[in-house]
Amino acid sequence: MKFETRAIHVGEKPNFKEGATGDVTQPLHLASTYARKDVDTPTAGYEYARTANPTRDALQERLASLEEARYALVFGSGLAAETSLFLALLNSGDHVIAFDDLYGGTRRLFTRIFDEKFGVQISYVDAREVDNVRNAIRDNTKLIWLETPTNPLLKLCDIKAISQLAHEHNITVAVDNTFMSPYFQQPLMLGADIVVHSTTKYINGHSDSVGGALMLSDEFLHEKIKFVQNAAGAILSPFDCYMILRSTKTLSVRMREHQKNALLIAGFLGNHPKVNRVIYPGLESHPQHQLAVQQMSGFGGMVSFELDRDLDAAKRFVENLNYFAVAESLGGVESLIELPALMTHASVPAEERKKIGLADGLIRISVGIEHADDLLQDLDEAFKKI
Ligand SMILES: *Cc1c(COP(=O)(O)O)cnc(C)c1O
Repeated sequence: MKFETRAIHVGEKPNFKEGATGDVTQPLHLASTYARKDVDTPTAGYEYARTANPTRDALQERLASLEEARYALVFGSGLAAETSLFLALLNSGDHVIAFDDLYGGTRRLFTRIFDEKFGVQISYVDAREVDNVRNAIRDNTKLIWLETPTNPLLKLCDIKAISQLAHEHNITVAVDNTFMSPYFQQPLMLGADIVVHSTTKYINGHSDSVGGALMLSDEFLHEKIKFVQNAAGAILSPFDCYMILRSTKTLSVRMREHQKNALLIAGFLGNHPKVNRVIYPGLESHPQHQLAVQQMSGFGGMVSFELDRDLDAAKRFVENLNYFAVAESLGGVESLIELPALMTHASVPAEERKKIGLADGLIRISVGIEHADDLLQDLDEAFKKI
């Protein structure tokens, strides 16, 4: 079955059993607990809704299929998924290697909680070079954490090469695939062990649900994380499961439109005299365009750029737009724009931002699926005001 078909059919089959009504969509099961007729036998295996819920099971089956994984587990946010993964995998004193250009909240979780409170050692390296990862490996390295393309500088790392290296050392590889969605990139197919998503972004895609997911195929690891999902309890609500299940049906259509508009906007910005540089993996000018073509089947909807003006001009520019909401987050059908240094990445220390090349005036766009003509006209008019 192809991606588009799986995105509609896996996990949702009409139920024709005696007494069922053949709904073509999975019902929203809100019950917190399940009654049984016989004390010894939970009905259809369900006991309590933190442990399992039919709407959540349907979503987990769907999401696993989209990443070509055997299992998926969903959580109350992307960060709850990450936390659950760390709790399952790591002990105090273990070492983690992470890409140095990460989602700000991920970095905060690593540094402020797992390192400072629980003594997990973290090395941040520029994973664009596989050798930097190799040189950081220690005897106690348990996990390599990748995000590709990164947020907001859209740097890539070679998932296949790094996974090979990791497996020679018995190290688990997790890839945050939020930016590409499973439609454009499938890290497990490239050798990674676990895929992480903030479903809040493209997978839900309508800016009306916060959630997270892990996808993986290793049975033992799945059991360990599932234990934490139940024991620590950071589960996704049935309503959010229902919303995300609904959203996955249009994921392929949305991603194609996001990409189409992003290519047009990146091209427009690239030719604009008031723009210093544009970062988009789909442009040949992107230093890792070749790797992008190799490991992704598309380039996504995120575009970053720097004006040749100061921070004040950048603020005025974003505030003068009509269709781009000035907001954190990404991946929804509506276009969003933000200044990472002041918003999403304000928690990253200024010197660290400088080290990874994140300029104060950098602007990040999450390109929506409005008509490109309207978006381009809006940008054009905002440029005239700076
Ligand atoms: C938003 C985001 C997260 C965190 O997800 P939440 O759902 O906000 O907890 C993690 N990684 C990336 C790349 C993100 O964009």
